[in-house]
Amino acid sequence: MTGKVYLVGAGPGDPGMITVRGAACLAKAHVVLYDYLANPLILSHAPKAELLCVGKHGQTKIWTQSDINNRLIKLAQQGQVVVRLKGGDPAVFARGAEEAAALAAEGIAYEIVPGVTAALAAGSFAGAPITHRDYASAAALITGQEQPGKQESLLDYEALARFPGTLVFYMGVTTVDAWTAALLQAGKSGDTPALIVRRCSMPDQQSIFCPLAEVANEIHRRRLRPPAIVIVGDAVQAAPALSWFDKRPLFGRKVLVTRPNHQADGLADPLRELGAEVLLQPAIEISEPTDWSPVDAALSQVQSYDWLVFSSKNGVNATLDRLRSLGRDLRALGGVKLATVGQATADALRAYHLEPDLVPERFIADELAAALAQDASGKRFLLLRASRGREVLAETLTAAGAIVEQVVVYNSTDAPAPDPKISAALAAGEIDWVTVTSSAIARSLGTMFGASLKKTRLATISPQTTSALAELGLAPAAEATQYDMSGVVAAICRSESRGENEF
Ligand code: SAH
Repeated sequence: MTGKVYLVGAGPGDPGMITVRGAACLAKAHVVLYDYLANPLILSHAPKAELLCVGKHGQTKIWTQSDINNRLIKLAQQGQVVVRLKGGDPAVFARGAEEAAALAAEGIAYEIVPGVTAALAAGSFAGAPITHRDYASAAALITGQEQPGKQESLLDYEALARFPGTLVFYMGVTTVDAWTAALLQAGKSGDTPALIVRRCSMPDQQSIFCPLAEVANEIHRRRLRPPAIVIVGDAVQAAPALSWFDKRPLFGRKVLVTRPNHQADGLADPLRELGAEVLLQPAIEISEPTDWSPVDAALSQVQSYDWLVFSSKNGVNATLDRLRSLGRDLRALGGVKLATVGQATADALRAYHLEPDLVPERFIADELAAALAQDASGKRFLLLRASRGREVLAETLTAAGAIVEQVVVYNSTDAPAPDPKISAALAAGEIDWVTVTSSAIARSLGTMFGASLKKTRLATISPQTTSALAELGLAPAAEATQYDMSGVVAAICRSESRGENEF
């Protein structure tokens, strides 16, 4: 059976800009051929596929168009489902027609899945809708790559100069002198407003507003490299007022999130939403405990405790999963009371339809310990905890006359050596913020990065985490007042809005 080829548009770069159809094609692909403009993060939609980079990407060989066509044909003939992933839209300045024609000639089934092309993305991400009704009733997509005046040129600059609408130039960075000169010479006014949008939709998007006559100067002066779109026409006048992307509070900031990978999203997502570029470098790793038998013994007589106390979401999940794998279910918990150190831990219980009996107002162990200690005398507490962590709960409860048992339901260990690229960026002072969301993370970061941590700003989740940093001789630039992930995000935003941008 022959396979099928999907020519899929990846959009302008932001991984959220791929279409639902495009993501579905990636999910079923056996092989993905992608070019360098397609954000590799989008490839996570294709976890099982073989991935081939066919673009200008440094290390990989550069494939010619016929190499690509031949490979698409061969793979489809072998019965494979193939995605050819292209930046933007696969049919806009992307040689999609050549690929489709080659497939058609061989009788291979194909589908073209449109994508958000750079012109439209640039207009929206920079706040200059290209057919703004006050300014333009038409828009033209133009390549800046053609040599103006060359004999076989398809571009008529005089017609473009007269065009009653917005002109959008693709691939116009290296050739900016030629196409701007041709347009001006053809009679387009040098005062026509223009907007250069580089790496649109990406965390380092740049947009530069200037008259057409200045576009070439701006590109040279700022040494702008591709990819950039240049929008020429009155429609871009809307941009300063309508721009939103680069006005987000954390736009242009690089933030290192150091939680374990499976938990990074809870912090990374809100930071991205606010415009930050998020880098991930887990400082600790979570794994199963080396010995389940104390947990199993405690769970087998779980009714004998008055309270179960959870200090993290990991603890909740590990405990309830273990209960289930012992062949029991939530009914085993019966009337035992449940306490959690914070709201995220409480939410983890609620995901199992369990409502905690106690969540302290401020999310720290000290506060929970104080609340539980009030009526602890003679009561039995089971603390379901990490292999390392603060002892304050056990100590306070024991001092209050409670019978305390602790079991390790998950291991927390320092992550192995960090990604050298992250270390280098930190050492070079290129990372604006590092989040420190537990004391164990603080200590591990100290081992991982040492003095480089002085070249960034640290954001801690609580005074306890700040103390752990102090032991390393470090002080945070921001400390959360609500001791959870949204508190960390809020602390960073507060610090930024006070203009504490230099250290
Ligand atoms: N098929 C693509 C265009 C490929 S041609 C599309 O539909 O968007 C490559 C040109 O696209 C670049 O030179 C640049 O002009 C433009 N481009 C692609 N991605 C871009 C981005 N994120 N920001 C600005 N321009 C981009």
